[in-house]
Amino acid sequence: MRDDPLLMIPGPTNLPDEVREALARPSVYHRGDEAAALLDRCNRGLKELLGTSGDALLLTSSGTGAMEAAVTNFLSPGDRALAVQAGKFGERLGDIAAAFGADVTRCEFECGAAADPNVVAEALAANEYKAVLCVYNETSTGVTHPLAEIAAVACDAGCCVIADCVSCLGGVPVLMDEWGVDVVAAGSQKCLMLPPGLAIAGVGADAWERAADPGMPRYYFDLHAARASAAKGQTPFTPNTSLLAGLAAALDLIEAEGVANVFARHRAMAIAVRAAVAPGGLAMFSDPAFASNTVTAIHAPDGVDSSELVKRVWESHRVLISGGQGELQGRIFRIGHMGTVQLPDVLKTLEAVGTELAAMGHGCDMAAMLDAAESAGRV
Ligand code: PLP
Repeated sequence: MRDDPLLMIPGPTNLPDEVREALARPSVYHRGDEAAALLDRCNRGLKELLGTSGDALLLTSSGTGAMEAAVTNFLSPGDRALAVQAGKFGERLGDIAAAFGADVTRCEFECGAAADPNVVAEALAANEYKAVLCVYNETSTGVTHPLAEIAAVACDAGCCVIADCVSCLGGVPVLMDEWGVDVVAAGSQKCLMLPPGLAIAGVGADAWERAADPGMPRYYFDLHAARASAAKGQTPFTPNTSLLAGLAAALDLIEAEGVANVFARHRAMAIAVRAAVAPGGLAMFSDPAFASNTVTAIHAPDGVDSSELVKRVWESHRVLISGGQGELQGRIFRIGHMGTVQLPDVLKTLEAVGTELAAMGHGCDMAAMLDAAESAGRV
């Protein structure tokens, strides 16, 4: 019986045995038939998760590489872009566009709140933009923005829609074609149950016509080159073939469970965590109406430093949760529930959190927390 730590952070996530086994297999030749078969399998599964008949291009990088690819292939220097942001990762997408010479206007919302599509529409009416940049699941605040509605107003304004789905692809429905999202960036180490190191750039079937000419300076992250290679069952550069094998295994697991069941389980685990918040004498940080199904952000109670809570939960229980980022450091803690997470993992985490909060002077009714989570979290 292994005694692995339990990762309840918003990525990297716990690795299923089947993925570990695939990662440990002998290397394959990246220009050979075996790699082509892996790419084909990954492509098929990812397109289903992305909800597109377009392309799912694999890049060897962390998720930010796919964000950069999305920006540099679909915008040219000087293009106006509206960055919808309410947290660290929305901000990053705008920062990348600005770093490569786009003229970025920020459409900012309060951290913990969801972006309002009407406000986005007003901003788009006030000026002409080439693209709207938006994170779907804002990991830093535990909020899922209404991407479908934001994409709808962006499409009405004739904009290209670039979305960061790094912390939710594979855990919640993403319907690129239906919503009119042109490009999606995602990463391996979240709902896809892999170590970090693979990025996914989803490009919608009609999106290539929007690809910027000439686009921004790029070389490694040229999606046209990636697409041309993908047509031959290859990638332009040497891919991380072990991660491809792991991804194929992860996609097999998702298919075996059933994509709809996987989404339902993520939702149930999120509901379980949220159900324990009030009985624990705690308060949600994110707007409950837009609370994420992959990560829950909770206010640290008065007198509790959330960084200290995270440390104690780890050291005493081998359960890893996250604190807040940037200005939220010390003020919130976040519980990730993505990938393999099941109800016993949620209950173990809540017990660890409740125990350490009590030790830090915040009395909470542990039995009520666990009861609430257990009854809310049945899939
Ligand atoms: N976008 C979101 C929403 C994320 O949660 C993360 C990582 O946590 C990233 C982007 C960056 O991904 P990476 O660290 O893999 O580059």
